[in-house]
Amino acid sequence: MKVLVINCGSSSLKYQVLDMTDESLLCKGLVERIGIDGSVITHEKIGMDKFKLETPMKNHKEAIGHVIDALLDANHGVIKSMDEIGAVGHRVAHAGEYYNKSVLLTPKDIENLEKCIPLAPLHNPANLTGVAACQELMPGTPMVGVFDTAFHQTMPPESYIYAIPYEYYEKYGVRRYGFHGTSHKFVVAKAAEMLGKKPEDLRIITCHLGNGASLAAVDHGKVVDTTMGFTPLEGLVMGTRSGDIDPAIVTFIEKTEKLSAEELDNILNKKSGVLGISGISSDFRDIEAEAEKGNKRAQLALDVFIHRVRHYLGAYIVEMGGVDCIVFTAGVGENDKATRINVCKGLEELGIELCEKRNDVRGEERVISTDESKVKILLIPTNEELMIARDTFNIVTGKGVK
Ligand code: AMP
Repeated sequence: MKVLVINCGSSSLKYQVLDMTDESLLCKGLVERIGIDGSVITHEKIGMDKFKLETPMKNHKEAIGHVIDALLDANHGVIKSMDEIGAVGHRVAHAGEYYNKSVLLTPKDIENLEKCIPLAPLHNPANLTGVAACQELMPGTPMVGVFDTAFHQTMPPESYIYAIPYEYYEKYGVRRYGFHGTSHKFVVAKAAEMLGKKPEDLRIITCHLGNGASLAAVDHGKVVDTTMGFTPLEGLVMGTRSGDIDPAIVTFIEKTEKLSAEELDNILNKKSGVLGISGISSDFRDIEAEAEKGNKRAQLALDVFIHRVRHYLGAYIVEMGGVDCIVFTAGVGENDKATRINVCKGLEELGIELCEKRNDVRGEERVISTDESKVKILLIPTNEELMIARDTFNIVTGKGVK
């Protein structure tokens, strides 16, 4: 069976087609500027050059129409008829407390996900528009929802309740949810496979360090804590997001700089993180290059980033009463050996011993701890699309998902 994976943003859409007989990627693409002048689709059949088509696309339905044309194209296509697509897996950002795993989407599920729109006002409407467009253009094809929040739904109340009036949780669902769940779930499964064990036999800390970044503590297969919270703003220092700050800073800056709530939201999400500290870039490559030249604020940004990762690493070791495996993934985690060295530095007493030689690698699945290290340290490239395709395939073939 072939599965189409769709990740809809407000004006963009990413897609992939995977052949689930061997989980191979057949094609991938991106539609940009949907509903804006200059709409464009970039399609890549694996093994062939990219093909680009600029054509007006008023909405997501038209965009998906062009995706379907690309999939069926005589040269760049990967299928002869849409009947070959057995199911569509949709990335949906927020499932609130409704779902702890992926589901076959029914009208009732769509209703539930619409109720989550206040929790993810930018993402859920776009995701649901994508589902509706696919349902219209591919009637009869099963649609599966895969949620960023689902994997973290096993967190106990002490991990997800904020110490603010309880009524805000009851009335508005203000609690910690966690994000990047599909990535954390993928690397947990892969880590267990690499170690020849089941997730249920392991205490794993997954470090998804990319432009957005989060850690998850996965105790015997169940997430017990994660660093992102009500929104993806909480927790680690990120490319442009602040992560944890004293909430009193918000009202202080708001009053002192006479900013609106929207302006402040924009500063904390888009102008903070390592960009805010360094004043240079949100990209770790740029910051590292500047730090090497002696730029103190660039070095400080890197130090603060590492400090926060280690802060949570320590917290999660205590929460789980130990750790068997630490996984590094996503843009920084997969590619930046210096980050991995600095996170693990001086932790030998905790049984965490990175092998510098094995760590001298980028984006490759491998064990990077020493043979003596009690805690296995793994580098695992994440693959959220494959995880979405797997869940989709398992649901529609009746295998079910955990
Ligand atoms: P992601 O959000 O997972 O796609 O990660 C993107 C981020 O990974 C970029 O913004 C960079 O900061 C970081 N990155 C990618 N390659 C490298 C590298 N070779 N060294 C350091 N950081 C990298």
